[in-house]
Amino acid sequence: KLSARLAKVAQYVPKNAKVADIGSDHAYLPCYLAKNKGIAFAIAGEVAAGPFQSAVRNVSAEGLSETISVRLGDGLEVVRPGEVDCITISGMGGALIASILENGKDKLGSVKRLILQPNISAVSIRKWFLDNGWMLTAEEILEEDGKIYEVLVGEKGESPLMPYDSDIEAGLLLGPYLVKEQNAVFKKKWLHEKKNWERIYQQLENAAETTDAMEKKQELIHKMQLVGEVLKVEN
Ligand code: SAM
Repeated sequence: KLSARLAKVAQYVPKNAKVADIGSDHAYLPCYLAKNKGIAFAIAGEVAAGPFQSAVRNVSAEGLSETISVRLGDGLEVVRPGEVDCITISGMGGALIASILENGKDKLGSVKRLILQPNISAVSIRKWFLDNGWMLTAEEILEEDGKIYEVLVGEKGESPLMPYDSDIEAGLLLGPYLVKEQNAVFKKKWLHEKKNWERIYQQLENAAETTDAMEKKQELIHKMQLVGEVLKVEN
C-alpha cells in the first residue's frame, strides 16, 4: 500500500498525464499511478545505482515496463525536452528539489504541473516558484508515522505570483494556503519549530557574544515573531 504521503502527491497527478518522477527510489509512485490513475506514461528517474536497480525490478515485477521507463541519471537529465507534462519530486529537502528544477530548466517547457513534496525547507521551493514564473496553486500538510510532510503544487501561470493577501514573508515560509487554512498539523509543525528556535536562542544567549551569534539571534527573534503572529500565540 502506498504511504499517505505519496498518495497525497498522486492525488494531484492529472489523468492521462505524462509524468517524470525524479528520485523515484523503488518506483512506488509511478507504479501506483500506472495502475490507479490512468496516466499515459511515466519516467522513474534515479541517480543512485541501488535504488535504480530496485525501480527496474519493481516495474518489471508489476508488468508495467510498457508504461514506465526507468532511467539512471541526475535530476531532469533523464528527461528529453517535450517528453512529460508533469513532474513529481518527493522525499528530499526543498533546497535539493529547487536545485533539480533550476538545473533542469530546459526540460520544463512542456511541463504544466509540478508536484513537490519537500521533507524540509518548503520555503526554498516557494522562492523558486516566485523567481521562475510558477504559480503555487495548492498546498497540503499531513502527518504520517510521527513526521509532518508538505506537498506543494505549481502551475505555469499567467501570473507568477502566489495568492498573497497579506505578508509575503510569512507566505513564503509557512505557505499562503496553509496559513489560511491553519489546520491542526500546521499548528503542530510551527509550534514545534518555534520551540526549537527558542531553544537555539537560549543556547546562543549562554554562548559568547560574537557578531555571528548576535545576527543569528536577531534572525531567530524575527522568525519567532513571524510565526507567533500567524499562529496568534504569545512570543
Ligand atoms: N521519491 C521517493 C519517496 O518519496 O518515497 C524516494 C525518496 S528517497 C528518500 C530520495 C531518492 O532521491 C533517493 O533514492 C536518491 O537516490 C534520489 N536522488 C537524490 N538526488 C537525486 C538527483 N539529483 N537526481 C535523481 N535522484 C536523486
